[in-house]
Amino acid sequence: MVMRKVAVLGATGSIGLSTLDVIERHPDRFSVFALTAHQQVSKLAELCIKFNPVFAVVGSEDAAKLLTAQLPAQIGTKVLSGSKALDDIASHPDVDTVMAAIVGAAGLSSSLAAAKAGKRVLLANKETLVAGGALFMNAVKQSGAELLPIDSEHNAIFQCLPEGYRGSKSNQLDLNGYGINQLLLTASGGPFRDRDLTTLKDVTPAEACAHPNWSMGKKISVDSATMMNKGLEVIEAYWLFGVPIEQIKVVIHPQSIIHSMVSYRDGSVLAQMGNPDMRTPIAFAMDYPARIDAGVSALDFATISQLTFKEPDFNRYPCLALAFTALKAGGAMPAVLNAANEVAVDAFLNEKLGFMEIAAIVENVLEMAKFQAPSNLEDVLAVDRESRLLAKQLIEKQMH
Ligand code: NAD
Ligand code: MG
Repeated sequence: MVMRKVAVLGATGSIGLSTLDVIERHPDRFSVFALTAHQQVSKLAELCIKFNPVFAVVGSEDAAKLLTAQLPAQIGTKVLSGSKALDDIASHPDVDTVMAAIVGAAGLSSSLAAAKAGKRVLLANKETLVAGGALFMNAVKQSGAELLPIDSEHNAIFQCLPEGYRGSKSNQLDLNGYGINQLLLTASGGPFRDRDLTTLKDVTPAEACAHPNWSMGKKISVDSATMMNKGLEVIEAYWLFGVPIEQIKVVIHPQSIIHSMVSYRDGSVLAQMGNPDMRTPIAFAMDYPARIDAGVSALDFATISQLTFKEPDFNRYPCLALAFTALKAGGAMPAVLNAANEVAVDAFLNEKLGFMEIAAIVENVLEMAKFQAPSNLEDVLAVDRESRLLAKQLIEKQMH
């Protein structure tokens, strides 16, 4: 058995901790090479003491000093800081598996570095594909990196695709050749699926972060409530599998038991099911193609009793419509959408913006933005920066 050396980028987050939970179950298969966090120094110190990585990376020099001070002398972990250090870790010759679980466009550069270095990339950071889809997929193709999706929907679709596709690493799905009609992305509809539309403007951050089925970081929880998350996932699926937009469909499935489906020409629909626990897609990807224990209990069909489905309503979820608009417009627009959304969600979480105004800000920024299609990382980062400024200015204006 090969011992995989893993770098967990975003180790203190929801996906990072689930990854470490899976690693801990299999000390014979995985060793932790590096752990990273932005500002959560004490949490990262605890993880370093437990997993004894070769490197730890934090967001700033001050945070690095704090971390070093919290690590006992016998821990050999070297502490680094800044985004260049993240790139170096993600592409380090001693690493073979990189879990890309930083939240937001901040994760783009390190995901790309891992892809360029030809690593096994476990991609949780969907913003990488939304903001830099063409760039990232080209890097994967050129280096021969092994890209495995962690987002539960994409992981489900990957599992339901023919073996020929999974072995090819080309990431271009030959829909006709494989007899595929559609990729069906399931969505829970979030906590406000059945809430009176007129009261959505009063939603508080705490209400938006209380997801009915999944426990996740704050940003993705708000994205699930607006369904921007599903919009980002449509864009993610477009790049990941290389399928036309028209062949990606969103279905609301409140129980989150079916994680997504592939519909075939002969009438077969293959679904991947399981309890909503991210350790399942993480474990699937960590030791792919071997199946390992993830600590997740098996589905109990007697207690599920029913699986229901419905079409998404764009009036309730304007962010979902905006994501389709941005994807169809192409070029820099998905990166603009992502940046404006990150700023708007942050303002909402800090009670500077109402829940329904998130979509309004994103829509306005999309209308104002005039950028050429980015052709390298610097271009994408510039679009991201400029779009953030536009969004911040709009939010400031609203407050006065
Ligand atoms: P989280 O907020 O719980 O954790 C984010 C991690 O990123 C933390 O370790 C944090 O320290 C680090 N981080 C934050 N800002 C950073 C910055 N500027 N530079 C470097 N590091 C930074 O987020 P999460 O819920 O674990 O989500 C991580 C990613 O996985 C997101 O892209 C999300 O969309 C995706 N994802 C999450 C889930 C889930 O169940 N949580 C499911 C599917 C996809
Ligand atoms: Mg998802």
